[in-house]
Amino acid sequence: MSVTEYDVVIIGAGVAGLTAGALLAERGFKVALVTQGEPTACLSTGCIDVCSRGSSPLSGIHDLPPEHPYHLVSEKIIRDALNYFQAAMTDMGIPYAGGAEENRFILSALGTLKTSCLVPSTMKEAPQDTKDSVHIITFKGLKDFYPGYIISRRRNTKSSVYDAGVYSTMSIASHFEEKEFFEKFIIWLEKLNIDEDKLAFPAVLGLESASEIVDTVSILIGKPVFEIPTIPPSMPGRRLFNGLKGYFHKKGGTLYWAWPVAGIEKTGKVIEAVTTPSEGRPNSINAKAFILSTGSFVGGGLTATRESIIENVFHLPVHISGPRETWFDSDYFSLNHGIGRAGIIADSTLRPAGSSWENIFVCGGILADTEILKNGCGHGLALATAHAAALSCAEYLSR
Ligand SMILES: Cc1cc2nc3c(=O)[nH]c(=O)nc-3n(C[C@H](O)[C@H](O)[C@H](O)COP(=O)(O)OP(=O)(O)OC[C@H]3O[C@@H](n4cnc5c(N)ncnc54)[C@H](O)[C@@H]3O)c2cc1C
Repeated sequence: MSVTEYDVVIIGAGVAGLTAGALLAERGFKVALVTQGEPTACLSTGCIDVCSRGSSPLSGIHDLPPEHPYHLVSEKIIRDALNYFQAAMTDMGIPYAGGAEENRFILSALGTLKTSCLVPSTMKEAPQDTKDSVHIITFKGLKDFYPGYIISRRRNTKSSVYDAGVYSTMSIASHFEEKEFFEKFIIWLEKLNIDEDKLAFPAVLGLESASEIVDTVSILIGKPVFEIPTIPPSMPGRRLFNGLKGYFHKKGGTLYWAWPVAGIEKTGKVIEAVTTPSEGRPNSINAKAFILSTGSFVGGGLTATRESIIENVFHLPVHISGPRETWFDSDYFSLNHGIGRAGIIADSTLRPAGSSWENIFVCGGILADTEILKNGCGHGLALATAHAAALSCAEYLSR
């Protein structure tokens, strides 16, 4: 059996795990992050929803029910978490616009306005109402984006189609980082002589340098330019993941990729190691403390069976809102499915409540009573609880 010793092992490379990992690594702790694969961030718009229930994220949080995990975290930590995120992403060349004080809108691929808090700078010029006229540029054969949906909802909106010679989101994005492709595209764009107030694109303007590409197009065409997130695979979601992953590496953390944690080693009230299957004997990573950030059902942290819901790594007790009949509302599109409340209840130190382990902390989408869809609080909650869990973990390690 191979054994490596760390101060902290974090399980799950989502927004929560990568953030907690970077924070602990920059404080000088030896951090390993083990993950079975990509997080839900790669499916997301890349926007940081903090609490989309009101005009201000912070007042929206204030109005959440008392059992919501945001109430485990002080307002100062929420603000610090958002500031830390913005500074980290700016450092990685993927700046975000916005702040904790107010929510803003982005234009969705369906033509609706989606409420969020921090948005990639490539979306900051999205119209905040229906007044601005918009010209949408789309790409021949691109299956993940239909400007007709947007045009049917917004007056003053037109579209034009460019033949990029490739048809997937990823391929077009990668072409935009090539000088020759970009120059040819700009010549085509200039010839359109666009009259509308703003210029919109599906979010394919580059892999990592989208912010610069959007600014350059805007300067050359002389109009505000913004991206519209497409359905998964989402480039802004992938940029978010890559930015946080790069920041974690920059802070000195070690990432174990394709490493599904399948077992634990323990003594008394302390977890000593997590293990993953491998040919022959399992691999084992030892640490003094562990942070569980494996997400909810989509992330892989929870599994629902006919009878119950299981937490897959430590088999922690899972809070379930009620009997199975209450897990799903008869309206598929309802925001009130009871299963959205399933997860791990944590105490004020972000340790799992009711568990006998003293060296486990938990954060992100796996927490109970989040109701992420209803409250519009996905990545924001992940950032805030990751900060709180990292601080508690640092205190435990420094005792
Ligand atoms: C389709 C979709 C779109 C969304 N869009 C948005 C949006 O636009 N804005 C927003 O704010 N929020 C959005 N959300 C919500 C948001 O993605 C999550 O709430 C948040 O990112 C949760 O982050 P996390 O780090 O807790 O977990 P996750 O992102 O779920 O990551 C969990 C990680 O744990 C790993 N893992 C799981 N089990 C194991 C194991 N046994 N061993 C090792 N690793 C394991 C996974 O591979 C993954 O890397 C969206 C969610 C979905 C599903």
